[in-house]
Amino acid sequence: MNTGKKDIRSLSRDELREYFVSQGEKAFRGNQVYEWLWSKGAHDFDDMTNLSKETRAFLDEHFVINHIKVDKMQRSKDGTIKNAVKLHDGLIVESVLIPTASRTTACVSSQVGCSLNCRFCATARLKRMRNLNPDEIFDQVVAIDKQSRNYHDRPLSNIVFMGMGEPLMNYKNVVRAIEKITSPDGLGMSPKRITVSTSGVPKIIKKMADEEVKFKLAVSLHSALDEVRTDIMPFNEQMPLAELKESLQYWYEKTGRRITYEYVVWRGINDQRRDIEALIDFCLAVPSKVNLIEYNPIDDGEFKQADPTAIDDYVNLLEARGITVTVRRSRGKDIDAACGQLANKS
Ligand code: SAH
Repeated sequence: MNTGKKDIRSLSRDELREYFVSQGEKAFRGNQVYEWLWSKGAHDFDDMTNLSKETRAFLDEHFVINHIKVDKMQRSKDGTIKNAVKLHDGLIVESVLIPTASRTTACVSSQVGCSLNCRFCATARLKRMRNLNPDEIFDQVVAIDKQSRNYHDRPLSNIVFMGMGEPLMNYKNVVRAIEKITSPDGLGMSPKRITVSTSGVPKIIKKMADEEVKFKLAVSLHSALDEVRTDIMPFNEQMPLAELKESLQYWYEKTGRRITYEYVVWRGINDQRRDIEALIDFCLAVPSKVNLIEYNPIDDGEFKQADPTAIDDYVNLLEARGITVTVRRSRGKDIDAACGQLANKS
């Protein structure tokens, strides 16, 4: 519903304080409202019981509190939960709760659809419709935290920006959301428990390094050979591997934090010795580790998971060069909640 009122959660704490002062009220009212919005999750001005009735009515006249709504929740037999999240303008994104023995991870979306055309990813088919606002990202985290408490008796412990969209193409809002998630007057989570995953946008990776962000970085690499990578991830033509590598070296110099490479091995695409050698070279350029992720088929089989022997070759050769490698099984496949499967099917 578009009422023409301003979304009050687009204002910073200082802007809220200034707003109250401009209305002839005390600045601390701004703090009170900020806390209601971000720490206490108020959905309605009437919930803000330490404000006078008049103030609440006045806010209601001028502002809205936009909230996401979990429109549909699906639970996998492995405990994974997928949410179809409805935004205030009716668009839908998906977010996923992934439980393991010791932790609950939220996989959140940063855009509605995606502008990159990775050929193996279902989200790419949606195209990019718009960026998510900071509060829409924040709300996905809050919703999953609640589900974790309800279904797994513990709070959310980790967040990965591996849902729909390319976080670095919506960098400003992603950073603002992370500020709310980590700040004591938001959720107070440690940034060390947050991973931003990118297809690799060198310019923004350098900017993040300059800003000394505290979260972790993962890069969806999938190939360390330009001709292969450009074939499966066409934007690689504009942002080739040499540039990506240079930005990652810069990231490591500034932050001292190693990078995780996400990597799927496909039959006939990147399952040969030269693919592995190229990955080894790429890994040796910057301290890093490799996550080999299972392919989740999204169509009639243009892409196929490589044979187990090819995966073994990757693991053996990487490890022989001292590179840490893990092989990750997918979760929530029965409900299309796994990597690359988020496409608003239902
Ligand atoms: N755009 C960001 C965030 C999306 S993360 C990024 O690319 O990192 C989603 C992860 O799932 C990425 O590593 C992506 O390469 C991977 N992925 C996409 N489609 C997949 C599929 N069908 N099977 C397995 N992984 C896939």
